[in-house]
Amino acid sequence: MKKTTEPILVTRSSLPPMEDYIEKLRLIWDTAWMTNMGPYHEELKEKLKEYLKVDGLELFVNGHTALEMVIQAFGLKGEVITTPFSFSSTTHAIVRNGLTPVFCDIDPQNFTIDVSKLEKLITDRTCAILPVHVYGNLCDVAAIQEIADRHGLKVIYDAAHTFGEELDGKGVGSFGDASMFSFHATKVYNTIEGGAVAFKEPWLADILYKLKNFGITGKESVEYIGGNGKMNEFQAAMGLCNLKYVDGEIKKRQAVAERYREKLEDVKGIRLAVPNPRIKYNYAYMPVVFESFSYTRDEIYDRLAEHNIFARKYFYPCINAYECYRGRFDPDETPVAKRISGQVLTLPIYADLDLEAVDEICRIILE
Ligand SMILES: *Cc1c(COP(=O)(O)O)cnc(C)c1O
Repeated sequence: MKKTTEPILVTRSSLPPMEDYIEKLRLIWDTAWMTNMGPYHEELKEKLKEYLKVDGLELFVNGHTALEMVIQAFGLKGEVITTPFSFSSTTHAIVRNGLTPVFCDIDPQNFTIDVSKLEKLITDRTCAILPVHVYGNLCDVAAIQEIADRHGLKVIYDAAHTFGEELDGKGVGSFGDASMFSFHATKVYNTIEGGAVAFKEPWLADILYKLKNFGITGKESVEYIGGNGKMNEFQAAMGLCNLKYVDGEIKKRQAVAERYREKLEDVKGIRLAVPNPRIKYNYAYMPVVFESFSYTRDEIYDRLAEHNIFARKYFYPCINAYECYRGRFDPDETPVAKRISGQVLTLPIYADLDLEAVDEICRIILE
């Protein structure tokens, strides 16, 4: 592989064969039903419930809106304990609901919320915990539930990274009170843009449906201050097409992840997350922590970029260090998250990434 080849980006969106999608578009043209919970929307909802092994599911126009609306559905007030080591969406969804985020530090091994530090942060204003299954590493769901039950708190998971994952054969979306999934183009499974909330309690189906449709509850009644969060038929059609191929895509990602692991696992100063045999993974991300390596994370990032290979400093900076939150939080209160965010790089991974390209990436890192 020479420098002149096409750039390798951190991810590449999965697309179905074009004919599959065109075939689906015919029905949309025949019926002129483009949005507002059409037939593809309903079909995708049922298929995803089954695939994700969850009781209840509502589709949304994107994952972020899904998260904002499920927080609203619970009618929360006060403080929400969350992680600073995530995508901006997680904390923004809390703040945009008029709630106060409280940041808990993360576990250095798997980068999810550190349950040993969680309980100390609970006050009489705490109403919920919003943890993230970071990079597809599941949180300690049992410990989190135990703490939440003891204090009467809701648990809403940001499961954007964990499409199709399972713990001991249980769908990841079946933990806590609700879980948000993202079907953005850059995720393992996509509906172009899209998202969903998975839940157990049937009343959530009703209120989420209304919230995503402006809070309209009848022909002449609007009972909630909702928004527009509906997934349209073009998105749902893409979702139906991609769902047929997602298992194959995950298998190919697994081969890429295993190749990286083979090459990097035993290198001194480089740390990979330790896999948990109870989890069925989706291989969404390939995070590598440059802890005491001969080069820093930033040097490796630049070196790869010189070779037209674009890894990502994901997540850097931590959310509690963002400009928009400056003065409100202290990143030094979550030292592990701060340290990891300065050392982690997510390497390119997608279904059609050649294993030779993986070898080349590892060679550049190690040389
Ligand atoms: C992608 C992502 C979101 C937002 O999902 P969208 O579908 O892009 O709105 C939220 N949280 C995390 C951790 C994500 O990776």
